[in-house]
Amino acid sequence: MELTKSDTIESQRNFGEYVDSPGLVAEINRLKQEVVDLRIALQTSDEHGDLQQEHLYRLSNSLTAEVRERQAAEDKLRELIDAIVREKGDLEIMLQILMDQGDLSAEEGEKARIDGLTQLANRRRFDEFLTQEWDRHLITKKPLSLLICDVDHFKLYNDNYGHQAGDSCLKMVASKISSCFRSGDVVARYGGEEFAIVLPETDGAIAVRVADRARLAVERAALAHAASSVSDWVTLSIGVACTASMENICNLPELISEADRNLYLAKHRGRNRVEWSRSERGAM
Ligand code: GH3
Ligand code: MG
Ligand code: MG
Repeated sequence: MELTKSDTIESQRNFGEYVDSPGLVAEINRLKQEVVDLRIALQTSDEHGDLQQEHLYRLSNSLTAEVRERQAAEDKLRELIDAIVREKGDLEIMLQILMDQGDLSAEEGEKARIDGLTQLANRRRFDEFLTQEWDRHLITKKPLSLLICDVDHFKLYNDNYGHQAGDSCLKMVASKISSCFRSGDVVARYGGEEFAIVLPETDGAIAVRVADRARLAVERAALAHAASSVSDWVTLSIGVACTASMENICNLPELISEADRNLYLAKHRGRNRVEWSRSERGAM
């Protein structure tokens, strides 16, 4: 119920008709006024309470909505994180597979360039390396040397000891030859019982000296070769070529032909020897 000031005055007037003591009437009216004031205050407080309650209700609603929204956002975020973690796992697996394949292809590439019997570089690796070093020589103008070695009377060795013994002999010869060269040189099985060595940045004089060291290393390995007319042991003939030695070596096939020619000379001049071009011999 809503009370106003006019209600208070009206009740004051009615009360005055029955009570004649002005002091008492005033006191009663003051009390009545207080009651009215309290009722008004109570009503105001009620209304204020309602407002507060409504405000709280709205606030609670908006907070609930906000909590739901945040919950939904959190769920989405968690789903996203799960998807990212799954994708990361998939990518890691794919990367591992690719790395394994890369390792395999690098490994296969390496295998494809190694001779199965001697474990030296094979002809393919030799060709690649020689071409690479020839190109470098054209740029740097530094000398490039090439040796071609051939086991003497190896057919007779096979005939005498058998093909398997021949294989073992080739392995031993390969190991003896390769022990004489720097790591920057490439020692390759050129074919059959022939070996070739590429010596970057090496002049003819040094190449001849190293070639003779390899020849001696094979001879001193003392691999019996009873059928050889050259020695009691397995021996090597070596042809040397160097870019610095002959003015007419102006391409790679010419360098190879020069080494081949000198190998032929070594065979012709008795085997178990190193041969090189005359102009080179003069330069030493
Ligand atoms: P020369 O001193 O003139 O070089 O005589 P040679 O007998 O060594 O030369 P030839 O070319 O007549 O014979 C080479 C022999 O090398 C013939 C071949 O059977 C043998 N040979 C080539 N490759 C291999 C191999 O991988 N294993 C074995 N055991 N023998 C091989
Ligand atoms: Mg031969
Ligand atoms: Mg031979």
